[in-house]
Amino acid sequence: MIIDYSLMIIETGSGKSDSDKEEGEHFTSSLGMEAALHARDQVGVQDFVLLEEYKSVTAFVGNLKKRFVENLIYTYIGPVLISVNPYKALNIYNEKMIQTYRNVNLYELPPHIFAIADAAYRAMRSEYHDQCVLISGESGAGKTEASKKILHYIAAHSSHSSEVGRVKDRLLQSNPVLEAFGNAKTIRNDNSSRFGKYMDIQFDFKGAPVGGVILNYLLEKSRVVHQSPRERNFHIFYQLVRGANDDILQALQLDRDVEMYNYLNQGGSTVLDGIDDAADWRTVTDALTVCSFTEEEKQVSSPLSRDQSMYARDAFAKGVYERLFMWLVSKINTSLASRTSKKKMVLGLLDIYGFEIFELNSFEQFCINYCNEKLQQLFITLTLKSEQEEYLKEGIEDEECLRPGNATDGSFLEKLSVKLGGHPHFLSYTTANVQDKRHIARDEFRLLHYAGEVTYNVKGFLDKNNDTLFRDIKEAMSQSKNLILQACFPESELASKKRPDTAGTQFRTSLLQLMDILLSKQPSYIRCIKPNDDKKPHIFEEQIVRHQVKYLGLMENLRVRRAGFAYRREYELFLERYKSLCPQTWPRFNGPAKEGVHQLCQHLNYGEDDYKMGKTKIFIRLPKVLFATEDALQL
Ligand code: ATP
Ligand code: MG
Repeated sequence: MIIDYSLMIIETGSGKSDSDKEEGEHFTSSLGMEAALHARDQVGVQDFVLLEEYKSVTAFVGNLKKRFVENLIYTYIGPVLISVNPYKALNIYNEKMIQTYRNVNLYELPPHIFAIADAAYRAMRSEYHDQCVLISGESGAGKTEASKKILHYIAAHSSHSSEVGRVKDRLLQSNPVLEAFGNAKTIRNDNSSRFGKYMDIQFDFKGAPVGGVILNYLLEKSRVVHQSPRERNFHIFYQLVRGANDDILQALQLDRDVEMYNYLNQGGSTVLDGIDDAADWRTVTDALTVCSFTEEEKQVSSPLSRDQSMYARDAFAKGVYERLFMWLVSKINTSLASRTSKKKMVLGLLDIYGFEIFELNSFEQFCINYCNEKLQQLFITLTLKSEQEEYLKEGIEDEECLRPGNATDGSFLEKLSVKLGGHPHFLSYTTANVQDKRHIARDEFRLLHYAGEVTYNVKGFLDKNNDTLFRDIKEAMSQSKNLILQACFPESELASKKRPDTAGTQFRTSLLQLMDILLSKQPSYIRCIKPNDDKKPHIFEEQIVRHQVKYLGLMENLRVRRAGFAYRREYELFLERYKSLCPQTWPRFNGPAKEGVHQLCQHLNYGEDDYKMGKTKIFIRLPKVLFATEDALQL
């Protein structure tokens, strides 16, 4: 049975038009999680807490697969959204879907990224609490696409004043610009983010977007001068050479033939399936206009001129590109800056480069994987914390309700030290025993990350970490007639005697700051999973998914959720759905919803241990109790 989202809503809705509905019936008018229980054998469970064999990875992966083949790529673990990359366009992000998810509680509709966006947005507005959406998963799992869907949903959400329109356009158009300069084809992903990005969307008290701020993290600048086989340089180079008009190319003394340039052709595959560099050039230049770049500024932003790219040293090229990228981000930030000084609420979106293992892993992979490691820690700390907080808030003090058990167990909950020496997850030639020495070279070290073991080659580490652009090059650049280069290499920097921090130290400091930013906000999570390594639709490789489910800690996440109370609902919602099962609550209960639910539970013979009554919600320990109640409803 094929069930798509829109069908599910129609199929299992109340069947009444809006005008036919009785008051209060909107709670059940669309597909609720409860109603969807009946479709569970066909499309799996849409919240893993309802999975009967919740301790089995096989059952977990089986549920994801069941749904994946029906194009149901989203599944919840409680409030956490799991997303499996479909590698094909699905018709589930249209205007109708946006409307469907607007102002609807998380569990009343099938799982969707819009539901997460909507919940975060509404929590921000109703509680005046800053939010952040943390999107994680390995390279190619769908993080960047997810962050764009959220931005799109938020932009479609709010009022239509011209100022808001201006901000929305700019927020949306900042994506193609930054992707052109900061993304590239790798063997893992044709549009891989080679920088980390955190974006704050600022809202006024009415919930309309009024501005934004982008923080960027460590661009993989070595790509400017070196690409591995089957990889490309940053998209912008190919877009420029293939898409810019003759005048621009002439002015930059560039030839239209990509293959001529050593900086662009090393990977041996400059053309990408399904990507039209020339067309993308136009998209990017249009986007630059929206983000208020002047004509003159646009022409750098075109990358290096022939002289520069042909003769300059690699270090120079990398340095210039990195600074150009930072300049670009600062320009975009200026164009996104809010025009109001009133207090703002914030929704943050974090989309970083995913965990990656290549054949040769260097300093860049070390930083990228370290960053993922940090985020994983944060996820574990915060999900456990929020579970405890909810029980506390609801006044449920049953010690039994939270048994993290294995969740604190195992490698992923361990604080992985950044210090390499002597750590059990660290191996190098000198620390290896005789047998291991055969598997590790003298210039390598190996780290056991949460997502797998990675062997790093230290060649070039020091240089990359020291990251010194020679003083005379800086001096020359600060004297440049090109205004953008001047801005990228300010004279003030030359005056400073202070030795700059190493790249590693800078990265670590900015990551720690990021963690502080995230900790000050209320988080939502999207965990992205890649179904195969071939970037192909319809292929669900169980082993590959299984590995990700394990290292993302999803089993532990589920176990924590299940160890306590699998199901929780506000009294009003629960009563509304099940009131017909008890004479005292049907057709309506005249009194507080909590009391109604209490009577309902008594009538249904719920055991004392089966459920707990919080301040605003009922908590049900085992899904089978809920299944039975739901089945009674359908009789
Ligand atoms: P990286 O860490 O390398 O930046 P990523 O997790 O950001 O990886 P994306 O660039 O978001 O990965 O996704 C990779 C590709 O997968 C996209 O270019 C797109 O082709 C496909 N994809 C991802 N999510 C979806 C989706 N929801 N619907 C359709 N295709 C998708
Ligand atoms: Mg990405």
